[in-house]
Amino acid sequence: MVVVSDRPRQLAANLAGLRARIEAAARASGRAGADITLVAVSKTFPASDIVALLDLGVSDFGENRDKDAAAKAAEIADRAPGRSLRWHFVGQLQRKKARSVASYADVVHSVDRVDLAEALGRAAARAGRCVDALVQVNLEGRDDFAAGEEARGGVRPNDVVALAERVADTDGLRLAGVMALAPLGGDPDAAFARLAVLAEGVRGVAADAVAISAGMSADLEAAIRHGATHVRVGTALFGGRALMSDHVR
Ligand SMILES: *Cc1c(COP(=O)(O)O)cnc(C)c1O
Repeated sequence: MVVVSDRPRQLAANLAGLRARIEAAARASGRAGADITLVAVSKTFPASDIVALLDLGVSDFGENRDKDAAAKAAEIADRAPGRSLRWHFVGQLQRKKARSVASYADVVHSVDRVDLAEALGRAAARAGRCVDALVQVNLEGRDDFAAGEEARGGVRPNDVVALAERVADTDGLRLAGVMALAPLGGDPDAAFARLAVLAEGVRGVAADAVAISAGMSADLEAAIRHGATHVRVGTALFGGRALMSDHVR
């Protein structure tokens, strides 16, 4: 008996639903769905899911742990050679992981410190690569982060432009825009409206730094209303993740 996996069909159905949400949200803001890049956040899910989504036309994948991302990037290069896809690193990043991440990531969404930017740029330049860097902003709304908030990362809003200038001056990096998570329990519309203003400041540093990475499964409509160019979606596409504390956003 041949056992046919339902998983590709399930992913196809989830993808269709997600694309419809993105399209509707874009249209409601007078935008085109095609102008919004879906980053499929594949953390905790196997490379076989990524191959299935590649077959369905998804080309951008996000991971938040270097170890898993590096393994999956190698596995996909092996299983789907020559397929063009882009890897997005979306998690908190330690400087000592910069060299590994710079070897496979096309975009790093979580650049929130000068020392990290420098380490990534140095590693990318040495590898003969150029990595798109998004300045991650902390939108928790306070200047003093309470315990635990820092774990989600991001530079304070007042420091965004200064960090963007440093990123723009770093060999091996291209300043590409901004990224943020909506505050837990907060109003995503207020947060993403604030992010849109900060994004304007970053475009003042480099006119082509137009990316706004905002919106996840629960709040992508609000993000698109406020100009998101990249939505990072895990659960709505892959289903629920097993609870693992270091994968909790
Ligand atoms: C996991 C994760 C996502 C996706 O979250 P979902 O709610 O599952 O869509 C997006 N961004 C970051 C930074 C993440 O870690």
